Amino acid sequence: MTSFTLHGIPVSRGIAIGRAHILAPAALDVQHYLIADDQVEAEVARLQCAITAVHSELQTIWNELPKDAPAELGAFIDVHALILSDPMISEMPLDIIRSRNYNAEWALVTQIEELSAQFEEIEDTYLRERKADIQQVGERVLKALTGSANFLPKVDAAEGVASMIVVAHDISPADMLQFRDSAFSGFITDVGGQNSHTAIVARSLDIPATVGVSNASVLIEQGDWLIIDGDAGVVVVAPTSVVLDQYREKQARQIRDRKKLGKLKKTPSLTIDGTAITLLANIEFPDDCAHAMDAGAHGIGLFRSEFLFMGRTGHAHKLPSEDEQFESYKKAVIAMKGRPVTIRTLDIGADKPMDFAEQTALNPALGLRAIRLCLSEPQMFMTQLRAILRASAFGPIKLLVPMLAHAFEIDQTLLMIAQAKAQLREEKIKFDPILPIGAMIEIPAAALTLPLFIKRLDFLSIGTNDLIQYTLAIDRVDHEVAHLYNPLHPAVLYLLSTTIAIAAKAGIEISVCGEMAGDIQMTRLLLGMGLREFSMHPSQLLAVKNEVLNSDLNVLIPATRKITRLYEPQAITEAVERLRLL
Ligand code: PEP
Ligand code: MG
Repeated sequence: MTSFTLHGIPVSRGIAIGRAHILAPAALDVQHYLIADDQVEAEVARLQCAITAVHSELQTIWNELPKDAPAELGAFIDVHALILSDPMISEMPLDIIRSRNYNAEWALVTQIEELSAQFEEIEDTYLRERKADIQQVGERVLKALTGSANFLPKVDAAEGVASMIVVAHDISPADMLQFRDSAFSGFITDVGGQNSHTAIVARSLDIPATVGVSNASVLIEQGDWLIIDGDAGVVVVAPTSVVLDQYREKQARQIRDRKKLGKLKKTPSLTIDGTAITLLANIEFPDDCAHAMDAGAHGIGLFRSEFLFMGRTGHAHKLPSEDEQFESYKKAVIAMKGRPVTIRTLDIGADKPMDFAEQTALNPALGLRAIRLCLSEPQMFMTQLRAILRASAFGPIKLLVPMLAHAFEIDQTLLMIAQAKAQLREEKIKFDPILPIGAMIEIPAAALTLPLFIKRLDFLSIGTNDLIQYTLAIDRVDHEVAHLYNPLHPAVLYLLSTTIAIAAKAGIEISVCGEMAGDIQMTRLLLGMGLREFSMHPSQLLAVKNEVLNSDLNVLIPATRKITRLYEPQAITEAVERLRLL
């Protein structure tokens, strides 16, 4: 057969090579027929029975979760149990049987399709992707109805372990766990996105996966040889022997590299000349702390608290309450076991849209976002400040404020923090009285007026993502100008190097928490500029540590100084590449 390539969304990295095991969705085989009036209650009972069976099936999976199962898996199974108990699934299909005389499978599929269509309308991507959970629950009930066994692929001993790649329209997180036990090496689904639960579990289990590969389960045939390149989101079907050899080599290299990196978890993060470098993690939810701890992070350098405010369409209250926020912050600080947690106050607006306020600005990135929005909504801001302060009684918390540019914004923010403290004191609620307060340096105006910040604050963190966006005047989410987004533009390097140098001279703590901090091509450049604190996605931490361990500041500092005097792009790129050879 001829080889062809399919493209999807890369959700879990690494290369997997194996034969396709196609899972046919039960929904495809559903029979549609009308039942006689006197059979209606029997049909209702049949569906109820299947729902009960799936309940106990989920309970069994939950009870038997292996100790090393990803932390979120239990929660995802709970979500499925909740969906199953919801009247939309547990009662509506019964009504459909009674009112339309549909057979149980037909009634269930009708209701699932109806619900899916409603979810399709939701703007929030996270919530929209929850449609998959409903379909997965429906799929389980259908399997219970039709009596088709839970599809557990058998491994052909002759083929060796982990040589099977599961191809499905969709796979539920619970099923993935079962597949892991039956040794499969990767999976491909027709649907799904970055935030689908299946993708999240794949990342935690560290299984190469590509989702959203339209029609994969139709185009790929049972037993086809497949390659998943989980980093690129590419699937090669029926590869030629030359391609197969190339990927086998790449796979072996990746496995070797990752094994080596895995050994660095407990290695102290020191440069060759003995300088200690702090490596912190960026998180979006308290549960991400587990990954941070696992990678050996020294703490959380950026907790993007806005994620607690997003995707709340289904909640009675659009904004998380003080208690709800407090519980999340406390959970993070407890999970980090005494390592500092830097909580950034709400950075909503622009690319992180709000559910509670319509975005009408023509240039939202230059509009009422982040601290600007917080200062214009003092009640909302006060709620968050109180929650953060309350959590600081349970472990070391630092408070980081995004998008500051003006002295009066810093002063107003500090005033509000002082007010929050006074309120708590009055109410006899505990908090850390000397909780450090810092600013994100992500607007060029801030980088150029650092003394204003140093005088008023305890620490600084450079948000290179926005600093680059605002310096080069390119919208970071507009793909038409994506090619202009360049961390090595001399203007960006100037702002970075001067900011780091001025902070170092003033003796104020400074870190970088934008994507640059997790990019190993940039590690030596930032070290050479004098940076000693990096905050990044936990998955990048060990690779960056590896760079740190092989860096000699005595060599990097003079070499970097020369780079900051260059203007020609080609010369800068080459010089930065050379740093990695030093
Ligand atoms: C940044 O701007 O670099 C940053 C870390 O914040 P965010 O990506 O959340 O805007
Ligand atoms: Mg930012």
